[in-house]
Amino acid sequence: MSQVTTSQIDSIRYQKGLDGEARAICTLEWIARLVTPIMQDHGWRLQLLEEMHPDEHTNWLGYNAGQKEIHLRLRQPGEPVVFCHTVHVISVMLHELAHMVHWEHTLDFYDFHEQLFCELEAAIKAKRVAFPEKDKLPAWWVGPAPTLPLPRGVDPRDNTSKFVAFARLLKL
Ligand SMILES: [Zn+2]
Repeated sequence: MSQVTTSQIDSIRYQKGLDGEARAICTLEWIARLVTPIMQDHGWRLQLLEEMHPDEHTNWLGYNAGQKEIHLRLRQPGEPVVFCHTVHVISVMLHELAHMVHWEHTLDFYDFHEQLFCELEAAIKAKRVAFPEKDKLPAWWVGPAPTLPLPRGVDPRDNTSKFVAFARLLKL
């Protein structure tokens, strides 16, 4: 069930048996590649990056388990063929990585989440991210706008304009 690994993530797993496995695998692999430079810079390692089952913790977008595993929601609860917008999932990944330093949702935590956005932006601009060329990205990479309600713990300063700016940076 393990897919690729990166220098900072030992194992990457998706939920088997659901439609759209290829999209789930690609999303996890590309997010892993995307965050590799900032994980290297901070010296973070994860044993596991895993897709949450869509019906697990249905009001969560992701969670960090013991600073060893990150679990991400890729699909809408009860509607496993409806995927979350890729940029939204990336934002949740950075939220969970911010928990590598700040466990509670303090102001310092949210400042650090913002900082990780800036670090990721810098890494992309410096071409430190082995990111697929736009013409190699499948059409679904730009999915529908996020429709999941924001649960407790999601950065309240995340807003559509940030997603739009970030999507532009990623050439989505
Ligand atoms: Zn959190």
